[in-house]
Amino acid sequence: MADNHVRKYGYPVLRKKCRPVTVFDEKLKKFAEKMFSIMWAANGIGLAAPQAGDTRRMFIVDLSKQDFDMKPMVFINPEIESTEGNTVFEEGCLSFPGLYLEIERPAVVVVNYQDIDGNYQSVEATGLAARAILHEYDHLEGVLFIDHISAIDRDLLAGRLKKIKVG
Ligand SMILES: [Zn+2]
Repeated sequence: MADNHVRKYGYPVLRKKCRPVTVFDEKLKKFAEKMFSIMWAANGIGLAAPQAGDTRRMFIVDLSKQDFDMKPMVFINPEIESTEGNTVFEEGCLSFPGLYLEIERPAVVVVNYQDIDGNYQSVEATGLAARAILHEYDHLEGVLFIDHISAIDRDLLAGRLKKIKVG
């Protein structure tokens, strides 16, 4: 697959439950690089593999523009170890251009994952980083941010969603 675009709402791949990454090789590194280039081109802070047309359990987060101490990160085979608290904040998704929704999510998350070399890592995240990690993790389960709003709110958005939807 040579096409370097973000899969928009309506692509079946966005509703797939992703499968674990088992091979950590140069190809995986190349794919991670491709994900970064797709995300940066779209000015995003996070991207999950399905949004790049792939069903492996991996996502990237880059908050280095917001927080200079944070390096761009690759999360492979992530597991949510624990969450704490609750916050509501406006959220977007590269698969839903122009759509921003107030979404309730845990305020703190501890996530275990493997890095690009397959080494096991763990990180505790708060604020925007926690939100980005939880949003991207959802993508690996085929869950989209519109699934977090009420059915009534979703009905109200039906017209806009129809315009965004591909296929
Ligand atoms: Zn998203």
